[in-house]
Amino acid sequence: MRQSQLLMPTLREAPSEAEAASHQLMLRAGLIRQLAAGIYTYLPLGRRVLRKLEQIVREEMDASGAQEVLMPSMQPAELWRESGRYEVYGPELMRLRDRHDREFTLGPTHEEVITTLVRGEVNSYRQLPITLYQIQTKFRDEKRPRYGLLRGREFLMKDAYSFDADWEGLHRSYTSMYEAYHRIFTRCNLYFRAVEADAGSIGGEGGTHEFMALADIGEDTIAVCQSCSYAANLEKAEYGFHNQTAGNPSIVQNRQLSEPKRLHTPDIKKIDQLTEAFGLGAEAFMKTLIYLADGKPVAVIVRGDHEVNEIKVKNQLAAVHVELADQATTERVTGAPTGFAGPIGLHIPIFADYAVLNMESGIAGANEKDYHLHIEQPSSLILKAEAGDYRNAEAGDCCPRCADGRLAFHRGIEVGHVFKLGTKYSETLQAKYLNASGKEQPFIMGCYGIGVSRLLSAVLEQHSDHNGIVWPRAIAPYQVHVVPVSVKDAVQMDLAAHIAARLSAAGVETLLDDRDERPGVKFKDSDLIGIPLRIVIGKQAAEGIVELKVRKSGELHQMALEAALAFALGTDY
Ligand code: ATP
Ligand code: MG
Repeated sequence: MRQSQLLMPTLREAPSEAEAASHQLMLRAGLIRQLAAGIYTYLPLGRRVLRKLEQIVREEMDASGAQEVLMPSMQPAELWRESGRYEVYGPELMRLRDRHDREFTLGPTHEEVITTLVRGEVNSYRQLPITLYQIQTKFRDEKRPRYGLLRGREFLMKDAYSFDADWEGLHRSYTSMYEAYHRIFTRCNLYFRAVEADAGSIGGEGGTHEFMALADIGEDTIAVCQSCSYAANLEKAEYGFHNQTAGNPSIVQNRQLSEPKRLHTPDIKKIDQLTEAFGLGAEAFMKTLIYLADGKPVAVIVRGDHEVNEIKVKNQLAAVHVELADQATTERVTGAPTGFAGPIGLHIPIFADYAVLNMESGIAGANEKDYHLHIEQPSSLILKAEAGDYRNAEAGDCCPRCADGRLAFHRGIEVGHVFKLGTKYSETLQAKYLNASGKEQPFIMGCYGIGVSRLLSAVLEQHSDHNGIVWPRAIAPYQVHVVPVSVKDAVQMDLAAHIAARLSAAGVETLLDDRDERPGVKFKDSDLIGIPLRIVIGKQAAEGIVELKVRKSGELHQMALEAALAFALGTDY
């Protein structure tokens, strides 16, 4: 391709609206342009990279035995009403009407469509298992579209759906996708971790993993063991108890109850006020929070320096909805203004975090205005409270899986998601097959997404330097950039055209910078667009000598024509 003909509008400066490094690079290198918030056009370079990502995804999906389909974006609202999601999905669902005033949605995901398809076309266990996938544009009216392709309103997703006869089958389908995801992200040179995520009320054991590209801009927080492969989303991350004695009721119940001491704490309600008033660290206190679990008040107690993890509370209580209680409820159940809630004297279920039960002593609200209690051995509370893991894991906590690992925290971009759906959709949409004994059974389903356009941004978050993009070879828009220093010099131009033609003929994608620009401009653009190998044709063209520059390492080689061609045809860059 001749660069003079290529629509590749590069920018010297990063546009002010772009915060994320990947977004800036994509605008500067002329990969994308915005049409409306969260809605982008892919220019030729961006489109090429996107196609490469699609192709890697497609090859690995095919290798795993999944079959490609293409489903409509426009979906009858009726279908979404049938699954119950028309209302539940909320404002993220794009809705429209046709000329007959019939309601439609623009698909944010395709469980409804695929389940209906399979309901109609697959009816025997003999046709199972089957996994279908597509690579297609999705629509979500995100509240905060941002960071370019990282959170778009119109974006490219690979979504796959597996249908099995039983849970063992689902586990095999799930594992096969999980492994395919590992291959895909590895081929993209992504630094990633598969993390355990919360599956909510469905999914079962090991029911969902998210694939996280590690990057500071990521919106998710993940806990990663520094010794073993354990990694989990913050909402799900557990911690180990090897250095703790509490959490074992048999130890705790043998302890003596001692009388709590009342402390006058006028208007002192918050942990930071308490730490100041008592000159103690937050870990010397207990926080008692009143929640409404499916409308019923419960108390959750964590150490002052810990944060309640509402997902863990919700799972422990097997509740559908957990939220902090309103002020009136808190005052009613504690008999005191907010800020003075404590574990003693409550007549509602109490859930105490293991760390609280491990305290020698601690200060908690007295359920009385302007008073706190100093409690010796709060572990005695376990007699009334349900002990459990109700807090967020923290950096430095023991790993829950291995003997000596500690947890560290990273930010992650969710690039993929694998999920055991079970019968959630097959039950509601009545999608059944006949088993070997002729009995109707709902399909056991899994769903598997990859944000293909988000993946492009995630790769860029990890692969750039101060001069611009550094494409991994597998997804670079071109592998070789041929740059004659002066296009007015016929010898240089002839040699450049010759090299480009030879490489192209050998299947190496080559971009020839035939623009009549100053060398400085050309080299700056070349660094910015990040093609893995640059071949510069300059003064020594007459002797058939060129200069090679590897974008990733910056290494330079002076080479004669044939050696240079051999290098470009190899994989050392
Ligand atoms: P998020 O928590 O980031 O909103 P999600 O849980 O809504 O993601 P899924 O419904 O699991 O995402 O979608 C599958 C994949 O699609 C995600 O793993 C992600 O890579 C991608 N994705 C989701 N929303 C967007 C978006 N607005 N823009 C780009 N990619 C997205
Ligand atoms: Mg979302």
